[in-house]
Amino acid sequence: MSNRTFTMIKPDATSKGYTGAILDQIIKAGFSVKAMKWTKLTKEQAGLFYDVHRERGFFGELVEFMSSGSIVAAILEKENAVEDFRTLIGATNPANAAEGTIRKNFAASIGENAVHGSDSDENAKIEGDFFFSKLEIF
Ligand code: ATP
Ligand code: MG
Repeated sequence: MSNRTFTMIKPDATSKGYTGAILDQIIKAGFSVKAMKWTKLTKEQAGLFYDVHRERGFFGELVEFMSSGSIVAAILEKENAVEDFRTLIGATNPANAAEGTIRKNFAASIGENAVHGSDSDENAKIEGDFFFSKLEIF
């Protein structure tokens, strides 16, 4: 069990003006921010971030979408962070997401689903290090 996870607020949510409301929900759920940046991915960077999905049918669509606008990347801390954050964001497809979850509240579709959350402690570390240098993490 780790106490850190990594998240991105995705381009659909930043462009609709949901960033503040999503961060508010994350912080009120008990997560504290240990690093954060508002930035934009190139196609190459988006492809590297989602490299595990390279062979999937939706990979091209995913890369186009994730590089289409700005994202907010953050490292979050809380007891049992990875699992609790996945519960907070809800199912990948917002149609299946539980009431009150971030994806239920803010996501439009399985592709444009408002937020990313790491799926393991190992990936949380890899993904945090993809975006942040040691100096930027406290
Ligand atoms: P994320 O990794 O972004 O937190 P997830 O872990 O819930 O999402 P994954 O299976 O890792 O889901 O898929 C990564 C992302 O790829 C999804 O969040 C979504 O944006 C996109 N995606 C997944 N399945 C599909 C699909 N069938 N069609 C279009 N896009 C998809
Ligand atoms: Mg995933």
